[in-house]
Amino acid sequence: MDGPLLIIVAVVVVALIVGLVLWQRSSTHPVEDTTPAAPPIRSVLGSAIRRALASGLDDATWDEIEAALLAADVGVEATSDIVSSVRQSRPESVDEARTAIRNALRAELVEADRSLILTGSPASIVIVGVNGTGKTTTIAKLAKRFQDSGKTVTLGAADTFRAAAGDQLQTWGDRVGSQVVRGQEGGDPAAVVYDTLESARAKGMDVVIIDTAGRLHGKKNLMAELQKIYRVAGGDEVSEVLLVLDATAGQNGLAQVREFSNAIPISGIVLTKLDGTAKGGIVIAIERTLDVPVKLVGTGESLDDLVAFDPDAFVDSLME
Ligand code: GDP
Repeated sequence: MDGPLLIIVAVVVVALIVGLVLWQRSSTHPVEDTTPAAPPIRSVLGSAIRRALASGLDDATWDEIEAALLAADVGVEATSDIVSSVRQSRPESVDEARTAIRNALRAELVEADRSLILTGSPASIVIVGVNGTGKTTTIAKLAKRFQDSGKTVTLGAADTFRAAAGDQLQTWGDRVGSQVVRGQEGGDPAAVVYDTLESARAKGMDVVIIDTAGRLHGKKNLMAELQKIYRVAGGDEVSEVLLVLDATAGQNGLAQVREFSNAIPISGIVLTKLDGTAKGGIVIAIERTLDVPVKLVGTGESLDDLVAFDPDAFVDSLME
């Protein structure tokens, strides 16, 4: 190969590599603000463990620790495994026991990418969950977060079952400055999803967030409806399917994750109202049993009260 040809080949190769990198950046961009804040749990677990350990390390201590873990919603299986693994490690001091419990709790959390992956243009996020868990509020918080990072957002009101749901989403949309696409009350929710995506595409929006129904009665219909929404939203192409779960629902939350997971592939959990519980162990129970990562945590009712879930900070605040 002579000189000029070699230079041309080199230029083409470099251009291809640069193009590939730029293309990857534009099609996959994790949420910019993943700065995890320490979740504001006023956990009773730490003080209960301290009380149990105050009397030394005998059988009664381990019973008390077991009771404390159960009371914090960690779940029966995880509690039993944590206590037996810590006992087997034969801690020689109270400090060693505390550290071993902390590490055992941390080991129960899955190793997963907890950032939101936004693929596609627009990226699509489907929000599911039982009514009252905080879906609409979470959508508004997410929309604000994306907009603060320079992205444009369209909201889709696919809970056509309740007129109030569409109104509520519209109110939040107006407040955060996101366009809201709505349908007829009682109309086909999947048609709203279709219209939302069409509108967002036409306007070149970056992210679409779809609100869905979460009625507890008529579950079978709801799950079929969610499957259709998922298909119309792009199926495998959907960037995230986030299940909103109320941290104060305790073990009930596990049943909800199971139910929704059977209908559509949940990519992450948004755990709301963590500010309203002194337990928090439900995170351990969920990740252990269902292998779905908690990605975000709701820490209050205002728009900025949404933080990325940090497993280390979480376990530390559980043990505080
Ligand atoms: P939806 O029916 O699932 O859409 O639930 P909403 O978004 O209407 O929320 C139900 C209630 O929970 C509202 O009063 C919200 O302000 C409240 N809420 C939502 N997220 C949080 C949170 O992270 N912390 C607290 N304390 N309240 C929340």
